[in-house]
Amino acid sequence: MHFSLNVYGLQRPNLNIRGELALKLLQDKVLSEGIVLSDQVLKVDSFLNHQMDPVLMKEVGKEFARLFAGEGITKVLTIESSGIAPAIMAALELEVPMIFARKQKSLTLREDIYVEKVYSFTKRQENDVTVSKKFLFPEDNVLIIDDFLAHGEAALGLARIVEQAGAKVAGIGIVIEKSFQSGAQRIQEAGYRVESLVRVSSLEGGKVSFAAEAVH
Ligand code: 5GP
Repeated sequence: MHFSLNVYGLQRPNLNIRGELALKLLQDKVLSEGIVLSDQVLKVDSFLNHQMDPVLMKEVGKEFARLFAGEGITKVLTIESSGIAPAIMAALELEVPMIFARKQKSLTLREDIYVEKVYSFTKRQENDVTVSKKFLFPEDNVLIIDDFLAHGEAALGLARIVEQAGAKVAGIGIVIEKSFQSGAQRIQEAGYRVESLVRVSSLEGGKVSFAAEAVH
């Protein structure tokens, strides 16, 4: 395999890399650049949460598209702002529109939007999460994407918005799941399929550990 130095000065394979290699790249990035803020929170602002790595995000998008191929996805839905990069790349691969839900402090009731309350794990505050009624329809089959899965609040809030529209949730794709928190179990109990590219089993002692299997 050929490698080249890209703009970040990192080695990258030139060839079309396959899913497994993409997941390995992602795990390596989490290990080498992830900053453990506490036993509960991982910061990955060098490639996902502030600076974004478009080459890695492209591979992430391809992997989500591969995992949900054949599901008849018509739209990808995420929540601003860190879900947008993986979601747009998945939507590009699936050749469907991507919608990002907006977070707002509090809203007066409006006819033209779907609204759900979502508690933010990292910000410790509740937001109104909104999507315009112009963009979701009963015939839609929606893939929900987010950057992190902690307790499932964001993903389940987005799923409720899809249900409000009378549309179907095809599944939920997560870039980094913290499997020691309750999100994956809550999503499965709600009857949705969840696929996480990387599963972090612990952040204890300032160290990132991965669950044995990277994908559910
Ligand atoms: P949940 O809604 O599943 O409880 O938490 C997921 C949401 O909170 C994601 O949208 C993500 O933005 C944020 N989040 C949860 N845990 C982490 C974390 O460890 N690191 C970062 N950067 N964001 C997180």
